[in-house]
Parts: sequence; structure tokens; C-alpha cells
Amino acid sequence: MAFKPANNIQDLQYFGEFGGVNPSISDSSTYTFLSAKTMFDTFEGNAEGCYLYSRHSSPSNLYLGEALAAMEGTETATVTASGMGAITPVLLQLCDAGDHIVSSRTIYGGTYAFLKNFAPRLGINTTFVNITKLDVIEAAITPKTKVLYCETVSNPLLEVADIKGLAQLAKKHQLKLVVDNTFSPLSISPFNLGADVVIHSLTKFINGSSDTVGGVVCGSQELIDDLRNVNCGAAMLLGSTMDSLRSASILKNLRTLHIRMMQHSQNAMYLAEKFESDGLKTVYPGLASHPSHDLFKAMMNKKYGFGGMLTIDVGTLDKANALMELMQEQNLGYLAVSLGFYKTLFSAPGSSTSSEIPEDEQEAMGLSNGLIRFSIGLDADIERTYNMMKICMKKLSIL
Ligand code: PLP
Repeated sequence: MAFKPANNIQDLQYFGEFGGVNPSISDSSTYTFLSAKTMFDTFEGNAEGCYLYSRHSSPSNLYLGEALAAMEGTETATVTASGMGAITPVLLQLCDAGDHIVSSRTIYGGTYAFLKNFAPRLGINTTFVNITKLDVIEAAITPKTKVLYCETVSNPLLEVADIKGLAQLAKKHQLKLVVDNTFSPLSISPFNLGADVVIHSLTKFINGSSDTVGGVVCGSQELIDDLRNVNCGAAMLLGSTMDSLRSASILKNLRTLHIRMMQHSQNAMYLAEKFESDGLKTVYPGLASHPSHDLFKAMMNKKYGFGGMLTIDVGTLDKANALMELMQEQNLGYLAVSLGFYKTLFSAPGSSTSSEIPEDEQEAMGLSNGLIRFSIGLDADIERTYNMMKICMKKLSIL
């Protein structure tokens, strides 16, 4: 049977302790034991169903983790306090001093900064590559390489990674393929395509209400156990723990993700087609002009579409800033970083979310100053939105 990520979430059944239709929220940082022996066993990870301390695990966090593992098709998952709080422990768990990572060069600025500036302090070095070129990636692999790292759809350039091709490379060279799927939840299921680890910033589409940060690592039981190990687990020891109240609210939002993704994708597709036919330089994986349109199509779970992210290039940063300010004034969205909100969010990545990337490297990867990244909202009437955006663009002589 075909993999059905939204059904996998829907089919889970959790009850609260009084028969509530939502699981009870665990409001405790620590847990009592009737016997000291069980406490010891729990500490050693040998007492199934018992909880010790909420940095280690809590019922609310386990519920959310299970739902996200079901969505991605992995054995299990662990939730974290932020997307970065998921990415950094995974890389530190998989790599020792002296190891090497091959990473896409077009990734979220924070991840880039971690790999470029922080990980080398711990003796972990990274080669950044064009993720759409499998031969270039293979050439960058050395005997010390442990991890291949990419985003399924990259932030902010919307390059698409060939997950199957990368998984074959990873297998051949005995590497772990770690994929950040933040931009394409439900649309693409990287684990199903061969990835070893799937990470999300829950802050974005999955939570969808821009009221919290959060993250998740979806993977094998072995990896998640390693991350949580009290002696040497990076998640456990670095302490990026999600709060139970937050995981309970993210779980509730997760249940409507499939409906929201369909609407985000439908609206983004509409605007991308219009912008492109107006002559704007538009990048959206759903457009036939996108260099990886066919690849995305071959990988996608069709009904969720090509996602809610698109970019246009209006030439200069001044024009980009003027357009974003005007669109905000017209209540067409917010000039804000992040993504996956009900309102459209727009920002100029070169001077915001990717500003960690030096200017010459931005230029080399095609990240121009006039680029505006849109996270398209859930607008009920996208035609009206488009018409109003067009008026803004005309006013600024962009169209
Ligand atoms: N991954 C991607 C693709 C992102 O866009 C972001 C944040 O913008 C992150 C990871 C980091 O997530 P968080 O801000 O939740 O730490």
C-alpha cells in the first residue's frame, strides 16, 4: 500500500487519563517511583513505560514524537526545543573530532553557521557542495566523511535534493543521509526515499501558528536512544528539551497539517504561475521552469502539492524592501522571517535569514540582493491577494 503520511497521523489513537479526546499534558519535570530498583532501571533505560525526568522524556513529548515518526515513516522520533536544537545534536552524535560532513551549500543560515563556524571548533569540518550535482557530491566524500546533509527543498533558493540519488551515495560510502524536511512536510517523505534521518523545524509549517519554536529528529530507535543516552547522548546532554505544554499544542496543530499544506501549495502555485506570466523571475518547484520540477514530481506525495514557498527576484534590495513594506501596509502579509503561517510572510534572505553566509558565497550560489522569499499563507481568496500584490508592484515599477 502507498505510504499515506496524513493517514498515519489520523490513525493514531490517544486518550487523556479521564477519557479525554486529547492526551493529558504531563505537567511534571520529575516522576515518583514505588521502588528504588525501578528508578535505577529507568535511569539505565530499562524500564519501559516509566518516566524519570522530563529532560530525558515526558509523556507529552513522546506523543508528539510518535505522531511525527508516523508522518515520516521512521521507527521513532524525539522532539526538541527548536529546529537548531534538533540539527546540532544529530550532527554531533554522528560525528567525532576529525570527522567530515558533506553538506549542501544552500541551507538555512543557522545550520550553515553551525557547520562553518562552530563545528570546526570541535574538529568537525564540512565541505559545502551544490546539492543538485551528484558527481560533485561524490567527489567531495573523503575517508573521514560521516554525514551527507541537505534540505529537501533548500532555504532560501528552493533547490531540490535528489533524495534517492543521495541515499545511494550514502549507502555506497557508508554515510548517514540527514535531511531537513522543514520546507516540504507531507509533500515529500525523505525516509521513504532512503534518508536515514529526517529533521524538521516544527516552528514552521508543522505547528503553523508562529507561536513557538520546536524541532524533531525522526530516525531509527538506535539513533534516538543514542541521542537520549544519559552518558553520551547529545540531545540529553546539550539539553534542548521541548516543554510539555508546547508539545501538546503542536500535536493538536499537526492534525490539520494536511489541509493547511494543500491550501499553502494551491495558493503558492496560483501566485507562482501569475508572477511568472507577468515576467517576474519566479522560482517555485511547481513551475515547469524550475530546474528540478520533474525530480520533485517524481518524489512527491501528490495531493499535498509543491509546498508554500516561492521566491521572486525584483532586482535590487531597495526595491525588495519597498515592495515588502508596501505589501505589509496593504495587509497582504507580514515583513517577517520564518514560514508556515496563515498570513503570507516575506523577507529578503540575503539580509536576514541567510545573512550568516558571506556575500561572495551568496553570490556564488545565486542568492541575489533583490530576492524576496515568500511563505504563502492560507488566503481564502488568492485571486484578490494577487490583484492587490500586482497593484503594489506596478506602483513601484516592478511590473
Ligand atoms: N531548518 C530550516 C530549513 C529553517 O528554515 C530553519 C529556521 O528558519 C531551521 C531549520 C531552524 O529552526 P528553528 O528556528 O526552529 O531552530
